[in-house]
Amino acid sequence: MPTLTITNIRRPGSEKSETLTVENGLIKGWNIKPEGEIIDGNGATLVPAFIEPHAHLREPGQEQKEDLASGLAAAAAGGYGTVVSMPNTSPVVDDPAIVRALIEKAGRLGFARLRPAAALTRGQNGEQLAELSLLAGAGAAVFTDDGRTNENARTLRLGLEYAHSLGLVVSVHAEDAGLRAGGVMNEGAVSEALGLPGNPAAAEAARVARDLEICAMTGGRLHIQHLSTARALDLVRGAKARGVNVTCEVCPHHLLLTDEALRSFDAVYKVAPPLRTQADTEYLLAGLVDGSVDCLATDHAPHTRAEKERDLLEAPSGIAYIEIAFPLLWTHFGKGLGLQKLVELLTVDVARVLGWPAPELEVGQAADFTLLDLDTVRPVQPETFKSKAKFNPWTGQELRGWPVLTVVGGAVAFRRA
Ligand SMILES: [Zn+2]
Repeated sequence: MPTLTITNIRRPGSEKSETLTVENGLIKGWNIKPEGEIIDGNGATLVPAFIEPHAHLREPGQEQKEDLASGLAAAAAGGYGTVVSMPNTSPVVDDPAIVRALIEKAGRLGFARLRPAAALTRGQNGEQLAELSLLAGAGAAVFTDDGRTNENARTLRLGLEYAHSLGLVVSVHAEDAGLRAGGVMNEGAVSEALGLPGNPAAAEAARVARDLEICAMTGGRLHIQHLSTARALDLVRGAKARGVNVTCEVCPHHLLLTDEALRSFDAVYKVAPPLRTQADTEYLLAGLVDGSVDCLATDHAPHTRAEKERDLLEAPSGIAYIEIAFPLLWTHFGKGLGLQKLVELLTVDVARVLGWPAPELEVGQAADFTLLDLDTVRPVQPETFKSKAKFNPWTGQELRGWPVLTVVGGAVAFRRA
């Protein structure tokens, strides 16, 4: 692997111009004599590459929406060096051979690293556990039935116990399917005004409460995905105070958008769990500040344009925006959170949630890092996206905080033109 030197860079909180040299995939030294290929960092800020704990890359079987190449290139363009992919593909990732094939293929692409999540249950049927030990041996990073809910409490109990014995986390899409029923948006004043079927906050809170009890009983490691309501965050906070081994993530779209957006009847705003109220978004943001929310996740969920142009009742749920997640966060919440905290929520905090070593930009560590231009304002131009889903709610919005270079394993995975 070629030697690479990045000159004229800054570390967060420092005005000092520094140089970083990498060799054989590892960090060779700070401020040593430049060697190999030299890239001028133009004064941009160097941080560990982001880790995405929750993305839908759609391979195998749904490559019309996304595939490993487009999804991992999109991740690299967003400053992400590692992605945990969700297993609700076709077929479901419940077979060690699929896990191995995904890792092997991703390794050849040269974009972000892939750490696939595997299904907790066979075919994500929610009933019989998948072969967790073999899946872990093949490289599965997490177990989850995301895309579906875990209706069978006993199966979740057994899964948490088994995964814990393997040292792995179970992550859950926590919604009570019965309460959610056919809801396509948050249940409240807006859904009533629009005459659309609502999905109540209680569907999330009730399921979070159940899962916290199961987690406490088993001593396993539970991670709650894409938390969307104040009520559910209160429950997580209370469980943590009692010592329950639980973590949770929040997605930028649940901080930036509310159910008011559905007044447009545009299915680009249809996500699961749904966009909630202004009070919820403010509560979740406060949870990020005070540490009761553990990390950020985008839930990058690409669909075809034709699918998302269907009406709100028929369209699938999800927004694909991993390429602009950091610019959105930095532009809207940079002041409130601060650069240090924001970067932690995308790097070391994700690693802690997943049980991985904290990424560090020290000599001898993996050369996975991202260069951020915190100042230049650029519009969101989805037509330039690496993702196959070239549309999102923020088209044309002027953002700052663009990743300009992503290096993964010492090689350039993305460089902004
Ligand atoms: Zn989900």
